[in-house]
Amino acid sequence: MNHPLPILMLPVATQRYSCHGCGNCCRDFTVQLREADLAKLTAQGWEEKIGQPVTTVFRGRTYLKQRADGGCVFLMEDGLCRIHKDYGFTEKPIACQLFPFVLIPDDVRTHIGISFACQSVRENKGAELRTHLREVDRMSFSLPETRATTYSAMLADTLSAKEGELDALRMTLDRFLAREDVVMRDRFDGLAWMVASLGRAQLAEVRASRFRELITMLASALPGELEHLPLDRALEKQMRLLRQATYARLEDVQVNEAMSVGRWRTVLRQLLASRAFTRGVGRAPSVARGLLDGCEFAAIAAIPTLSESPDREAIDALYARYARATLLGNRAWGAGYYGWSAVRGLQAMVLNIACSAWLARALAATRHHEHATLEDVRDALGRIDRHAGRAPWLGSVGERLRMEYFRLDDGLRRITRESI
Ligand code: SF4
Repeated sequence: MNHPLPILMLPVATQRYSCHGCGNCCRDFTVQLREADLAKLTAQGWEEKIGQPVTTVFRGRTYLKQRADGGCVFLMEDGLCRIHKDYGFTEKPIACQLFPFVLIPDDVRTHIGISFACQSVRENKGAELRTHLREVDRMSFSLPETRATTYSAMLADTLSAKEGELDALRMTLDRFLAREDVVMRDRFDGLAWMVASLGRAQLAEVRASRFRELITMLASALPGELEHLPLDRALEKQMRLLRQATYARLEDVQVNEAMSVGRWRTVLRQLLASRAFTRGVGRAPSVARGLLDGCEFAAIAAIPTLSESPDREAIDALYARYARATLLGNRAWGAGYYGWSAVRGLQAMVLNIACSAWLARALAATRHHEHATLEDVRDALGRIDRHAGRAPWLGSVGERLRMEYFRLDDGLRRITRESI
């Protein structure tokens, strides 16, 4: 590799992580394999030891085989990995070694981000992140594309970013998100307002130092400005699209399930479920292996917003960590989010937060809680973040159209306030 980019550990001092061996990632994810992984598995002789193939090919890609319950073929009853036990950590597929870290290059460096799909990350348990730097750096050399620039950063759809603009945007938003003197609802309403303002601004005429002045001015107007910008409740169409967007983030087709049920039946089931979420009437359809089974949409609507939860302070701290880690880990735009521009990627980040808040209320209703608890929010955020930046349909034209609609009538602000 020529001149690999320098690597930067996620600079969120309040975030911690160590693996606690819950095994959830080995049940939740379908692990795609690289050539080097396949060579290792073959050399380890698993097929002879286990007496069955340990990989499967689906739509031209090779994956680790899963059991009928979705768990990895190597996951043992005690929640530990058989490859790890027999051969050691570095002999596992590289995707398993790296999780929950993600490596996302920009024009000048590789950011180490972190996935909130991991329970220990959500619970903020373990060592300081900087203690993992050497190990993640080692792994990155098995993924050479992560140490090279893959996208030239864009500020808006047709505007390449000028030097320093995206760093300034990241740092300004991060400072605002870290403000503990601003209540959670105002923090995320403020973020939605800033993002909407950037979407409306003629950014081609406000470049470099003037762009930095613009975002500093917008951030310094918060949260006071929100008092002068009162909002009506979200429109019914906005809530329909929020539910539909949440369903799109819950799609959970496992490779073995898709292979046994067949493509068209899988697509039909997804279409019907998406329609049911959009309508939002009656009982929620079965999604994500029974996540909301038995829950009525009316019961979800009756759960108060997260700001009214007795756990609101802990929920606020969780969302602040999540939003800051998404921004500073370069997971909000560019190579971290479907190659989208910063403005469009930030809109998606606000939508992801609103979807997770709606889902937390849905989980509270399913579990017969009066309010969304910290546990409900953790679980919801984990579900939403497992797809962010990696599910192809969330980077599609359809998703872009959904984002366009939320730009109208203060859509992002309204659905944020309605959920958080
Ligand atoms: S190979 Fe090991 S670490 Fe990777 S998913 Fe399977 S059980 Fe988990």
